[in-house]
Amino acid sequence: MSENRGSALLRGRIILGVGGLYTVRSGGQEYGLIKARGIFRKRKIRPVVGDYVDFVPARGEENGWIEAIGERKNVFVRPPVANITQMFIVLTCAPQPDYLLAERLLILCEMHDIRAVVLVNKADMDEGFAASLRDSYEKAGLAALMVSAATGEGIEDLRQRLTAHTSAFAGQSGVGKSSLISRLFPERALEVGNISRRISRGRHTTRHVEMIYISEETRVFDTPGFSLLELPLMDAATLKDYYPQFYPYEGSCRFDGCTHRNEPGCAVRAAAENGEISRMRLELYQRMFAETKEKWDGKYD
Ligand code: GDP
Ligand code: ZN
Repeated sequence: MSENRGSALLRGRIILGVGGLYTVRSGGQEYGLIKARGIFRKRKIRPVVGDYVDFVPARGEENGWIEAIGERKNVFVRPPVANITQMFIVLTCAPQPDYLLAERLLILCEMHDIRAVVLVNKADMDEGFAASLRDSYEKAGLAALMVSAATGEGIEDLRQRLTAHTSAFAGQSGVGKSSLISRLFPERALEVGNISRRISRGRHTTRHVEMIYISEETRVFDTPGFSLLELPLMDAATLKDYYPQFYPYEGSCRFDGCTHRNEPGCAVRAAAENGEISRMRLELYQRMFAETKEKWDGKYD
C-alpha cells in the first residue's frame, strides 16, 4: 500500500485515463500517475474522464491515488465519460444528415439533463441547405447554429457557447467534429497531442478520451465516440417524455396515454399541422417510436 496515504487530499477532475493511470486537473495544474484505490474495483465503479475526484498526488517514485469520486450528473459507458453539460450535435449537407442519429442524441441529452445545440457545419458548401436545416431545428425549439470549420464562419459564436460548460461534440463520422475542435483551439490541439504521446510512452495507442481544459471555465471532450449511439432499451410509450415541446398539449389529446401517432383527436398532431410545433420533429418522433418498439418487443430474441 502507499506511503503517502496520509498526505493532503486535493480535489480535481479527471482529464485522461490510460491503462489504469489517470491524469487529474486541480487548481489549474495537471497531476499524472494517479491510480484508483482497489475499493472502487470491488464496488465495480470505474473512474472515468470528467469525474470529480478527491486524490492524493504522486510523490517521488510513488504514484498518486484517487480516494473518492464525486456525485455524477451523468455517466456513459461508450465513450466512458462523465458530467457532460452540453452536447453539440453536428450535421452537414455532406455527408447527408443522419436525422435518426441526431434524434437519438437529442433524446439522450433530454434523459441526462444535457443542453443540446445543433451545429450545422460545412455552411461554406451549401449556405441554403445549412440555413434551412438550422431553421428547422430552431423551429423545434432547439438552439441551432450554422458554422464552417473551413472558413471560420460562426466559430466565434460557437466559442462563446463553450464558456461555463463541459461540452462534447457528437455526430456521424466526417461531419467535421475534429476540424471544429482544431479550428476552435489550434494551439491546444497540438499540445494535447503531445501529452497523449508522452503518456503512451512510445507504444502505439488507440485514441483516448480526453477532456481539454481551454480554461478553468471551458472544458471540451475530445472524443468521437458518440457517433455510434444506441439508446437504452425502453418502452416506446415513455419516448414522448423526452419531447418537451409536446408537454403543453399532452392533456388535450382525446385519449389518455395518446402516443401522438394515429390516435384520433391528437392535440400534438393538430399542433404540428397548425405549425405550432415542428412537424419534422413529430415525424422523427414517430419514426423513433417504431424503432424503439421494435427493439423492445424483440428484447428476448
Ligand atoms: P469528423 O469525422 O467528424 O471528426 O470529421 P473531420 O473533422 O475529420 O472532417 C471530415 C472532412 O470534412 C475533412 O476532409 C475536413 O477537411 C472536411 N471539413 C470539415 N469541416 C469542414 C467545413 O466546414 N467545410 C468544408 N468544406 N469541409 C469541412
Ligand atoms: Zn396525442
